[in-house]
Amino acid sequence: MRKLIRTESPEVLTKIDEVKGKTRWQVYGELYAQNRAKKPSFEFQWPQIEGKKLNQHLLPKLMAMTDDHCSYCDGFPLKRGDDTIDHFHPKTRSEFYSKVCDWENLYLSCKHCQDSKGSQYEVELLRPDELDFHFNRYFIADSDLKCNYPAVTC
Ligand SMILES: [Zn+2]
Repeated sequence: MRKLIRTESPEVLTKIDEVKGKTRWQVYGELYAQNRAKKPSFEFQWPQIEGKKLNQHLLPKLMAMTDDHCSYCDGFPLKRGDDTIDHFHPKTRSEFYSKVCDWENLYLSCKHCQDSKGSQYEVELLRPDELDFHFNRYFIADSDLKCNYPAVTC
């Protein structure tokens, strides 16, 4: 995992919805929460904006932020169709419905990491753009490959 410096939220998400008086990402989060409340099996779909789906607006920005590397495993280059957007706080959990389009919650991910992580989440989970993320605090490389995690117990 490389340290990731998160850029400012793109305008496509921060634009104010004239009717609701809130940013688009907030409105989408509320709408998604309402839909899930009405129908628990409701599945999230990226909203359509200016002729294309929101994820298509966001992917190039996320790719630029990670230099096309997977945010989690550092996989590179990501093949077409293998460049997915992971919701760090899973969109299937009610406490995170509001973050479904929150820029801070979206990470470029390869399909393998996306499938492995799924809806798992724990408070201790390391975020690639954590402000105090120092590689050596979390990982240790052992040339004999006897131990590689966590550093404190090696
Ligand atoms: Zn990956």
